[in-house]
Amino acid sequence: PVYRPNPERYQNMPYPRCGRSGVRLSALSLGLWQNFGGVDSLSNARAMVQRAFDLGITHFDLANNYGPPYGSAETTFGQIMKQDLAPYRDELIISSKAGYDMWPGPYGIGGSRKYLIASCDQSLKRTGLEYFDIFYSHCMDPDTPLEETMGALDTIVRSGRALYAGISNYSPEKTREAVAILKSLGTPLLIHQPRYNMLDRWIEDGLTDVLKHEGVGSIVFSPLSQGMLTDKYLNGIPEGSRASRSEQIYFSEDDISAENLSKVQALNEVAQARGQSLAQLALAWVLNNDAVTSAIIGASRPEQIENSVAALDNLEFSDDELTTIEGILGA
Ligand code: NDP
Repeated sequence: PVYRPNPERYQNMPYPRCGRSGVRLSALSLGLWQNFGGVDSLSNARAMVQRAFDLGITHFDLANNYGPPYGSAETTFGQIMKQDLAPYRDELIISSKAGYDMWPGPYGIGGSRKYLIASCDQSLKRTGLEYFDIFYSHCMDPDTPLEETMGALDTIVRSGRALYAGISNYSPEKTREAVAILKSLGTPLLIHQPRYNMLDRWIEDGLTDVLKHEGVGSIVFSPLSQGMLTDKYLNGIPEGSRASRSEQIYFSEDDISAENLSKVQALNEVAQARGQSLAQLALAWVLNNDAVTSAIIGASRPEQIENSVAALDNLEFSDDELTTIEGILGA
């Protein structure tokens, strides 16, 4: 059947401006790091992307090596574009990245001009897109001059491969330098993509000040700490959850420590008192940081996207709630 998007999709989603740029992002974005690979169900992936768009999510986040196998999340997204979303290309912000390892040899990893431009061209081919809206340097490469990496982003934008430049996982200091270099090249830095959630607050220690001062937006990843900030691990590790999957190397049983679980338990009570799920509380909390433009959620099923988007029904925090949360997180 032909996909017909929900005509009311723009009614409930906030679209904050990304830094001091002209572009707005949906307050929640969908990331395709997990569950959109060649090993995953295409029909589930398609249902998730459709549900997200129907709920007002306009931004989809990719990287060259999302899968598994590497590259396959971009191929999956390309198929969904072709089948369902091609008529809506101008309603979408689609991003990709290069930086972590992608192909063998010295040109398939890092921050060189050689790698970034070749990888961007591969990503365009896999997705079938004519351009990305945002192209990122996925991580800082200490062995490449920052001028070279930023110069590659500038070339990617000037050549029409992407509309805006982004960086991910850069320290406050390197972010400041990247901003200055890109400004001098005439391609302003649009956005920074760092990890941020109730259990990992490193951006509050310098990065958010740089971003606000420079007028750069931010989109935070793993806002649910890969599922830890939901009620799913309170009574063990459920079958099929990310922590249960043996191929996972970035999240496992060890992350579900007693210390984290006791925080999660206490946060779950705060969520219940607000009439929210813990996932909804965790999302509302990251969006409450005024340096944050959008939060990129992951999902394994369409229902999770519905649950997460319903966080938008209650984004306000009382001073008392914030104090209680600080107490839990600081403990
Ligand atoms: P999250 O912290 O949102 O974790 C997503 C997982 O949480 C889901 O797979 C699901 O777990 C569970 N979940 C999601 N919603 C709910 C819900 N409403 N109720 C209960 N459980 C829920 O984000 P990710 O870690 O997946 O990262 C999101 C995106 O961020 C990535 O796809 C990617 O685009 C980006 N990213 C960027 C990085 C970078 O270096 N720039 C690094 C990592 C991510 P389950 O599978 O167990 O059902």
